[in-house]
Amino acid sequence: MVHRLPGYRAQDMPLGETLAARTGLPVFVQHDISAWTLAESLFGASHGAQDVIQIVIDETVGAGVISGGQLLHKSGRALVEIGHTQIDPYGKQCYCGNHGCLETVASTGSLLTLAAQRLITQPDSLLHQQPLTLESLCAAARSGDRLACDTIASVGHHVGRMLAMMVNIFNPQHILIGSPLNQAADILFPAVSSTIYQQALPAYSATIQLAPTAFHEPGTLGAAALIKDALYNGFLLVKLLQG
Ligand SMILES: [Zn+2]
Repeated sequence: MVHRLPGYRAQDMPLGETLAARTGLPVFVQHDISAWTLAESLFGASHGAQDVIQIVIDETVGAGVISGGQLLHKSGRALVEIGHTQIDPYGKQCYCGNHGCLETVASTGSLLTLAAQRLITQPDSLLHQQPLTLESLCAAARSGDRLACDTIASVGHHVGRMLAMMVNIFNPQHILIGSPLNQAADILFPAVSSTIYQQALPAYSATIQLAPTAFHEPGTLGAAALIKDALYNGFLLVKLLQG
């Protein structure tokens, strides 16, 4: 539902229905993280798995969940809003109004802010020699820079706490991480997995496969996944047969 669209006369416009009416074609609309999760299960790193958690750490933090082979919130407008779940009761205020949301400590923007603050007290960091970006932070971490490693590991621990709770709820076979921080996977992934193993039910966490998403950016694969899913569930096949 497009509630408002700056520059256009649109108010509370159902996007899929409107596009379908204008084009005469079936239209499928899904949140980008949910569509990416479906794409990974059909073509990528979680191919064939029945229970999957895919977390995306970027400018925002969100997740897609496949439970029993079905995408959670598939037909609704909801998302698995882990980014706005409180991880630190004494943390700073989030734009959603809550305090200490996961997004305030684990989004890429908050990560760069934290790294910039820590740089002041760490004069020997490699990051003083270049502009502070996600790429330079990940490269410094790969070179063993302590500040860069600590900052990325702290994101991994925060995300791991959230994932440990989700593991106890969904008992997934696969956990995928889609993030520009995968450039420093050797730092990020051990931090995530060690926290999951410490905090989730051992019977559930013991066999989990933690991996990066196969696609760095989902591009149009999310859309392709929605169409393939509609073929599998029969909706689009019936449409095609009806001409
Ligand atoms: Zn929030």
